[in-house]
Amino acid sequence: MKKLYVKTWGCQMNVYDSERMADVVAPLGYAAAEDAVDADLVIFNTCHIREKATEKLFSELGRMRLHQKAKAARGERMLLAVAGCVAQAEGEEIRRRAPYIDMVFGPQTYHRLPEMIAKINRGAGAVLDVEFPPEPKFDALPEARKTGVSAFLSVQEGCDKFCTFCVVPYTRGAEYSRPVAAIVAEAERLVQNGAREITLLGQNVNAFHGEGLDGKAWNLGRLFYRLAEIPGLKRLRYTTSHPRDMDDELIAAHRDVPQLMPFLHLPVQSGSDALLQAMNRKHSADDYRRIIEKLRAARPDIALSSDFIVGFPGETDHDFAATIKLVREVGYAQAFSFKYSRRPGTPGAIMPNQIEDGIKNARLGELQKLLREQQEDFNRRMIGCTLSVLFENEGSEPCMLFGRSPYMQAVRVPAPTRLVGEEMAVQIEKAGFNNLSGSLIMANAA
Ligand code: SAM
Ligand code: SF4
Repeated sequence: MKKLYVKTWGCQMNVYDSERMADVVAPLGYAAAEDAVDADLVIFNTCHIREKATEKLFSELGRMRLHQKAKAARGERMLLAVAGCVAQAEGEEIRRRAPYIDMVFGPQTYHRLPEMIAKINRGAGAVLDVEFPPEPKFDALPEARKTGVSAFLSVQEGCDKFCTFCVVPYTRGAEYSRPVAAIVAEAERLVQNGAREITLLGQNVNAFHGEGLDGKAWNLGRLFYRLAEIPGLKRLRYTTSHPRDMDDELIAAHRDVPQLMPFLHLPVQSGSDALLQAMNRKHSADDYRRIIEKLRAARPDIALSSDFIVGFPGETDHDFAATIKLVREVGYAQAFSFKYSRRPGTPGAIMPNQIEDGIKNARLGELQKLLREQQEDFNRRMIGCTLSVLFENEGSEPCMLFGRSPYMQAVRVPAPTRLVGEEMAVQIEKAGFNNLSGSLIMANAA
């Protein structure tokens, strides 16, 4: 057996891609290793969303180069690969600065890893493959070999929205939706292999418009109705969505499909219309409010999450105040917030009125304080309630299981291992910022 080490930065799509890379090279005899030091193949799967990604990568590569040399001194070879969005965006630069790298490839070509490795083994030189190939990557990927109770399934990739701050349309390419038949088949296999929850993934997952079982394009809402028919599949989730694509059928699925969990990550970025326009988000703050209203009418207990950017070029105190107002009105169960980071090649990077770091820090601090209070409050409101918890694994403490509530909260419960994979009623007793704890309601534990 050869040892494979994959380090992943970034979003769930990257986590999914890393798992699939491991599946692709498994037939060549590579098995996952905990440690990079002695690995035969090391892959860095990178993220380009925010600054410093490239510098972090080069410092990791520098360290890995030492291990590569030590291995070479023993007459053994360590193949080094850089994958993901930094590779896609800066492939040539990586090859120039680190000529000892064997393979540089983007998110759309990792299904070609066996050919790349064969080429290197033939002595045909290093590989740079940052194409957007015509063949769909998903058709060429092997079946997933293993799965946990909660699994990811990529249904959509790429983005055509071109928000002015974002690199995704440049690194992940144009929007593409997989056919429904392939998605259903993969979901059924995941369930046969033990998955009880599936999270559908896509950079713009609710823009999904894959070929349906009737040959016509299906939207995401329709796909959920079909996936809910799979026996044994207890929970469905999806991420990341765009407000523009939150159509009525998807909202209705939140009302009608019990497996679709009452939690939605729906990034708004800002509460100011002027900024939303400058960001090219193609919706207003009131459009977003109306969507939330409809969602709450369809599923009153739905918990909400979002992404926010502070300090986008031109953001005034007035714009920032509109973001704070929106946050207070909506009330979030959790959220991610970031300082705007200039990404080379995006329109935002060359806009005038860039905001100085001190202002960005102050705004981020204020926003995060409010979001933190909302999250703590949301969690605290669960104390004394009975929540259905899907147990995913044994967790870090002895005799405790780790699971998630319908609202995505991490829950720790003293429970026997045989309950991993089961959905159980749990009485919530304590709530912190990041997790809940409680005890099994015994009638269900029998
Ligand atoms: N597709 C999703 C959407 O439309 O909101 C988000 C994709 S992006 C991978 C995840 C988050 O990173 C974004 O929602 C945004 O808040 C943040 N982000 C992206 N580019 C950024 C930048 N240049 N500076 C700061 N945050 C950024
Ligand atoms: Fe990036 Fe999302 Fe905007 Fe697409 S919709 S450009 S992925 S932030």
